[in-house]
Amino acid sequence: MQLLRPDSAEAAAQALGNGSKALAGGTDLVPLLRDGIVEADTLVYVSPVVPRGILDGRIGAGTTLAEIERSDQVPAALGEACRQAASPQLRAMGTVGGNLLQATRCWYWRLQFPCYLHGGDKCHAKAGAHREHAVFGNDRCASAHPSDVAAALLALDATVRTTKRELSIADLYRLPTDDDREVTTLAPDELILELSVPAPEASVYLKAMDRRKWAFPLVGVAAVHGADGIRIALAGVAPIPWLLPGIEALDGATPLPGTAYKVDIARTLVRRALASLGASPR
Ligand SMILES: Cc1cc2nc3c(=O)[nH]c(=O)nc-3n(C[C@H](O)[C@H](O)[C@H](O)COP(=O)(O)OP(=O)(O)OC[C@H]3O[C@@H](n4cnc5c(N)ncnc54)[C@H](O)[C@@H]3O)c2cc1C
Ligand code: SF4
Repeated sequence: MQLLRPDSAEAAAQALGNGSKALAGGTDLVPLLRDGIVEADTLVYVSPVVPRGILDGRIGAGTTLAEIERSDQVPAALGEACRQAASPQLRAMGTVGGNLLQATRCWYWRLQFPCYLHGGDKCHAKAGAHREHAVFGNDRCASAHPSDVAAALLALDATVRTTKRELSIADLYRLPTDDDREVTTLAPDELILELSVPAPEASVYLKAMDRRKWAFPLVGVAAVHGADGIRIALAGVAPIPWLLPGIEALDGATPLPGTAYKVDIARTLVRRALASLGASPR
């Protein structure tokens, strides 16, 4: 395996695709490579060439979660989502760009069961252990998106700038289909460069997890009071970060036998989040 150190984001993007992968902090990618779940003959080290830092609502993709957590320039929901993610060591290495693109934590997928997300025709979690899995969007793959940060950015209605285009954070994600098992819309040779995050009037991020520290979200709830009212997004409930039109939308959840408890947690956290924004849950 070779490691390329391009001198610009454009050169990095040109080196991507055809068996090469972008490497930032490596906290997700390196274990996947080590375990043979992801294969690459070339790694393209992008951290030195993608923007890094926070200025006027723009956050470089190479900014670490620790830098966002410490910043007084980001909305409260985003700072809190970073603060509650992973461990201090991981937050010091892990970038926001890599966080948005981290792979599912579903153990069937990580143990390389030939499941739907790996291109097979069956979701092994549905018939097996699925306590951490999804309550929305789970008709094919029932994995639960692990990113606290993505849920906060979705509630904030952030925009992503890549080497090819600008898109809303909602459009960065897609549910897997029979034709395409990917859960993001990013092309193999496309790099995330920067996020634009509108400044809300108020925002909050609440997270339920198995431990108080260093655990993925069972349910994460980001609620944002912005120019167009309240926006709510959830982590840990669907294969992608999930926009919730309102608390009543939880009635439309499709939990598996082992994940029904997540709907109750989500309802409680959404109520608390709305109360902390001074909004009525209705
Ligand atoms: C034990 C553990 C616990 C964790 N807990 C949480 C948690 O509670 N909440 C949470 O939200 N996250 C959690 N994480 C995820 C962690 O935050 C991510 O692993 C980290 O942010 C990824 O960033 P990275 O820079 O290391 O990405 P890398 O591992 O370098 O890359 C991850 C993916 O993103 C791609 N990539 C990276 N940068 C770019 C870019 N600019 N453009 C295009 N593609 C890019 C890579 O090719 C790769 O596919 C946890 C991780 C671990 C290992
Ligand atoms: S939840 Fe998704 S990733 Fe996990 S076994 Fe089912 S199809 Fe595979």
